[in-house]
Amino acid sequence: MANLTRDFFIGLSNNKLLNTNAKKYGFRLGAEKFVAGTNFDSIIGIIKDLNSEGISCTLDNLGEFVTEKSEAIEARDDIIDMLYKIHEQRLDCHVSVKLTQLGLDIGDDFCINNMHAILKVANRFEIFINIDMEKHIHYGKTLEILNELRKEYDNVGTVIQSYLYSAEDDLAALEDVRIRLVKGAYKEDASIAYPSKEDIDRNFMELAKKRLLGNTFTSIATHDHNIIEELKSFVDEHNISRDIFEFQMLYGFRTEMHNELAQAGYHFCTYIPFGSDWFGYFMRRLAERPQNINLVLKDVFYT
Ligand code: FAD
Repeated sequence: MANLTRDFFIGLSNNKLLNTNAKKYGFRLGAEKFVAGTNFDSIIGIIKDLNSEGISCTLDNLGEFVTEKSEAIEARDDIIDMLYKIHEQRLDCHVSVKLTQLGLDIGDDFCINNMHAILKVANRFEIFINIDMEKHIHYGKTLEILNELRKEYDNVGTVIQSYLYSAEDDLAALEDVRIRLVKGAYKEDASIAYPSKEDIDRNFMELAKKRLLGNTFTSIATHDHNIIEELKSFVDEHNISRDIFEFQMLYGFRTEMHNELAQAGYHFCTYIPFGSDWFGYFMRRLAERPQNINLVLKDVFYT
């Protein structure tokens, strides 16, 4: 049943028509609980409040399924505007981007050029750019583009998904690159990804420990308290500096833990999605945690 529910919401997240229509109608179904605002100006207050609690942020100006050059260019320019605002307002933030938003499905060179434009500004302001990892169909290209960009910029990194069989090797090849480690949010075939949660969790733990024993910064992105507790003990046992990692969680999820971890002296970063292109992101969150459906139903029936 859990798998069916997950497949249903992942199916919705991939539906281009629903994604397009959702943009026209604004937040619905309780999306505002997990998507912080419709534009950058509407989330500045949230960022400043989190920063004042010692929490940094990674900002995602939501967008995917881009097939028109004009849309990708608009997304690129919005991200560049955001970089100026982060710099001017001295916000403790970095930026997460999706290559499909920046034209990966249109052409590799077009997408790389958009990334160059973003990284040039980000580099000047010393802002880190994280390339989110999307469906496996984009995986090889994403790593290739990352490697290409890293010839010129060191303020760019990406995400490794522990559900992939290749995660260990891919992580080893990115030993010197700042990485966010996640379990993986998409539906992938058993020929490339572990189907069982047990294996995905075990792999996550092993990969996280390997990274923590190295020197390159790692973002441990999970809401899983069992993993977080075990890694906290691991860090203590091995005298690992807290400066080489941070915990990351999504905006609106387990908010009490964000504050607890920051107050306990761990680096903590909240992933803040915003913008009108909320549907795919929101459906993936419902797929991960069907309990969130209760929030949706409340919204549908009581508002
Ligand atoms: P799960 O395996 O979903 O949950 C483990 C356990 O934690 C649950 O059984 C439950 O006991 C507890 N738990 C989880 N959530 C809650 C909650 N809200 N309230 C109470 N208990 C809870 N995926 C990608 O594929 N690409 C990306 O680029 C990407 N970026 C991400 C960035 C961040 C900051 C985060 C946090 C996730 C990102 N993801 C990304 C999504 C990720 O891959 C997982 O799909 C998602 O985080 C769910 O897995 P989990 O590790 O949080 O825990």
